[in-house]
Amino acid sequence: TPSSIRKIVVLGGGITGLSAAYYARKAADQQGIPVEITLIESSNRLGGKIHSVQTDGFLIEKGPDSFLARKQPIIDLTHDLGMNEQLVPTNPKAGSAYILHKKKLHQMPMGLVLGIPTKISPFIRTGLISPLGKARAILDMVLPARKADEDEALGDFIERRLGREVLEQMTEPLLAGIYAGDTRSLSLLSTFPQFRQMEKKHHSLIIGMARGMLRRPAGHKTIQQKNGTHAGATSPMSSTSSPVEPAAPRKSKSMFLSYQYGLSAMIRRLQEQLTMDQVQFRMEESVTQIAASDSSTLSKRGKDGSSSTEHTSRYTLTLSSGEHMNADSIICTIPAYAAAELLGDIPEIQQLNRIHYVSVANIALGYKHHQLQHEFEGTGFLVPRKENRMITACTWSSTKWKHTAPSGQTLLRTYIGRAGAEEWTSLSNEELVQAVRRDLRDLIGFDAEPDLVEISRCYRSMPQYPVGHGELMDRVRASLAAHLPDVWLCGAGYGGIGIPDCVQHGREAAEELISRWAV
Ligand code: FAD
Repeated sequence: TPSSIRKIVVLGGGITGLSAAYYARKAADQQGIPVEITLIESSNRLGGKIHSVQTDGFLIEKGPDSFLARKQPIIDLTHDLGMNEQLVPTNPKAGSAYILHKKKLHQMPMGLVLGIPTKISPFIRTGLISPLGKARAILDMVLPARKADEDEALGDFIERRLGREVLEQMTEPLLAGIYAGDTRSLSLLSTFPQFRQMEKKHHSLIIGMARGMLRRPAGHKTIQQKNGTHAGATSPMSSTSSPVEPAAPRKSKSMFLSYQYGLSAMIRRLQEQLTMDQVQFRMEESVTQIAASDSSTLSKRGKDGSSSTEHTSRYTLTLSSGEHMNADSIICTIPAYAAAELLGDIPEIQQLNRIHYVSVANIALGYKHHQLQHEFEGTGFLVPRKENRMITACTWSSTKWKHTAPSGQTLLRTYIGRAGAEEWTSLSNEELVQAVRRDLRDLIGFDAEPDLVEISRCYRSMPQYPVGHGELMDRVRASLAAHLPDVWLCGAGYGGIGIPDCVQHGREAAEELISRWAV
């Protein structure tokens, strides 16, 4: 009967929300549970941070441009959606990236993994670190491990193991590229928990990394909404969370992958599939209130002893349009500050406001002329905080990703903004372009007039997990479970910002809620 159909509402149409809807439908169908799924997105576009545009033959990613190839959740989803053929690797001939140091670009030493040196001789030869700094870093191999289990700041940890120079010149520019964060305030355990494990197991980060310990810790915890569940113990696009498993058919050994027609191809494919699966999309709508409905599930036993279930939905939602909607379960994938506002009455929920979101921007510059008279070596460069530049990094996109520009044409992508450096938000588009062009001129002597400029302002887009984030999320989830059962929080703001982690979290929430209905 219609009344036995369970209603799931997904808040947010980014990759987490879309994955949640996809896997909820799949799990419900597999278990024969009738569900009605509605996805509510406040903007006029699905994809959230993922946003690819095609202009004049260039493919420009306004948000993320790729994902880590070794992370199984996105590989599985790609496979499930029949998109394997669209996977593209980085250009194997592109070389490595450079790091700016005292106005000079230095090639990243071979063996640098997540900003941690793993090969001694290239590290000894690099001009990025002084002899004293190198000696300090190598001390990591003899310094004892810290016994305590508490969280600490990622930057403090790196400095403790490898010294300040490696932190500032190597690790922070690389890791900050992922979080746009200040490593001195980011949680170690919620960003790179494997670093702590390596310290424990090998005393040394260098040895641990060198032994290829990039594996998920045993007994990895999920994001389930249970007391004591440590949601933060997953990592971003970088790190531990998935073991190195054989992936679905892959085109190369590239560390990163993208799609031929941009990451938005995945969003379009998900939208198409979900539409076929009867998922309802409510665009340019949001939820303003969640209220418990009067009664919850009633079980009826017929005279013949057969059991049938009828229920009224657990929650009544008020939408921004004023309309009301019922829900038995809500998967909330919106940013932490938006969730704090929506769920404000729940004790502990204001803690979500401790997750600060940094605003970043990127400016893509396209050059159509075939003779640019400039050699771009490697894949681009990173700019450490200390160098005091407007740009935090620059990628030669058309060298790194062949599919992003027509042959012979050039696409650069410059990045702006990080924790503690968000003044760019008050600049006009013209000022931003002037500023990045000034940096390119100063740093690499490149001053050609671009034929195409695409500015992407990503306000409050990079969540910063504070020290103690794991416990914070445990408290929030425990409170939610007590006060709003069957409301799930997942997505970039809560545990793992990389696209594969978002897919995984959406999937885990969806499968967990369906499995509860199956019993
Ligand atoms: P979002 O994409 O933020 O989706 C949330 C959705 O909720 C949005 O569509 C929003 O409009 C909607 N919403 C907000 N409030 C409400 C409301 N009240 N009601 C309804 N809807 C609402 N990751 C990688 O793996 N590789 C990369 O190369 C990479 N690069 C990045 C570059 C940039 C510039 C940024 C910003 C991020 C990057 N990331 C990268 C991280 C990754 O893109 C994100 O973490 C991920 O896409 C977030 O997905 P999400 O669905 O959790 O959140």
